[in-house]
Amino acid sequence: MSDNIIIRAQGVKKRYNTGKVIVQALQGLDLEVKQGEMVAIMGPSGCGKTTLLNTLSGLDAIDEGVIEIGGRDLAKMSDKERTAYRAANMGFVFQFYNLLPVLSAIENVEMPLLLDYSRRLKAKEVRKLAQEALAAVGLSEQSEQRPTELSGGQQQRVTIARALVNKPAIVWADEPTGDLDSRTSQEIMDLMRRLNQENGQTFVIVTHSQEIGDQCDRIVWMKDGLVVNEGAKQPAAAPLITLNQPNGHSKRLIPTMQPA
Ligand code: ADP
Ligand code: MG
Repeated sequence: MSDNIIIRAQGVKKRYNTGKVIVQALQGLDLEVKQGEMVAIMGPSGCGKTTLLNTLSGLDAIDEGVIEIGGRDLAKMSDKERTAYRAANMGFVFQFYNLLPVLSAIENVEMPLLLDYSRRLKAKEVRKLAQEALAAVGLSEQSEQRPTELSGGQQQRVTIARALVNKPAIVWADEPTGDLDSRTSQEIMDLMRRLNQENGQTFVIVTHSQEIGDQCDRIVWMKDGLVVNEGAKQPAAAPLITLNQPNGHSKRLIPTMQPA
C-alpha cells in the first residue's frame, strides 16, 4: 500500500434489508484518505453518508469490498478486537450530542478512556486527561454541569472533547454542526481545524454546509451510494498521532505497518 493512506475503502457495498425492501446504501464505493487530512463528505440526504461513516469506522459490517484502517482490514478482526481498535484509534462526534444526561460534562468526556481497556488508566489519570480535553474546548468552568445545563454549542464542544480525549488518529463527525447557529458552527469548525492542524489528526466530516466543506482540505461528493466527485487536495497537515494496536503491546505503531 502507498504510504500515509490511513483510510482505504475499495468496492464497498452495504445494503439494508428492512424485510419489505432492500436498500443498497453503498454501491461499490472507493475512497482513500491520507493521514492528517480533513475531508468533508457531502451529498443529498439519503445518499449514504452516515452509512459510509458507520461502515468505515467498523460500527456496521459491509456486504462486499474491503475497508482498511491503518492498513488493517476491519472485517478480519474479531468483534472484541475491532471494538478495542476503535476505542484506541477513533473518536466520534455526532449531530445529536449523544451525551449521557445523568453524567456531568467531565464524566461524559472520561467515557472513552474508561472504555479503552488496553490503557488501564487510573481514575486520577482519567480525570486529568478529561480536564485537559475540556480545557482545549474552552469548557473548564462547566466541567461539573450536566448536558441539560449547557447550551447546544457547549454540548457539542463536550462531544468534541470526548471524541478527542484519547487523542485518536481518526475523528468521525456526522453533521457536527447540523443543529447549531452559524456562529457556533464556525466556532466548532475552528476548534476541529485547530486540533487537526496541531495534532495531525485525520477528520472525516459529514456536512450539508458548503461553508464547512470549503474549509476542509477536500470535499468528497456522494450520490446514490457512490463517490461522484472529489475536490482538489491540499497538502495534509504533518501527522503526529498514529494508530494504536491494542491487542499487541502498548507501543504506538505508524498506520502503514503490516496488519498484526
Ligand atoms: P445520509 O446520511 O446520506 O442521509 P444514510 O446513510 O442515512 O444517508 O442512508 C442511506 C440509505 O440507506 C437511505 O436510503 C436510507 O433510507 C437507508 N438506510 C439507512 N439506515 C437504514 C437502516 N437502518 N435500515 C434501512 N435503511 C436504512
Ligand atoms: Mg446522515
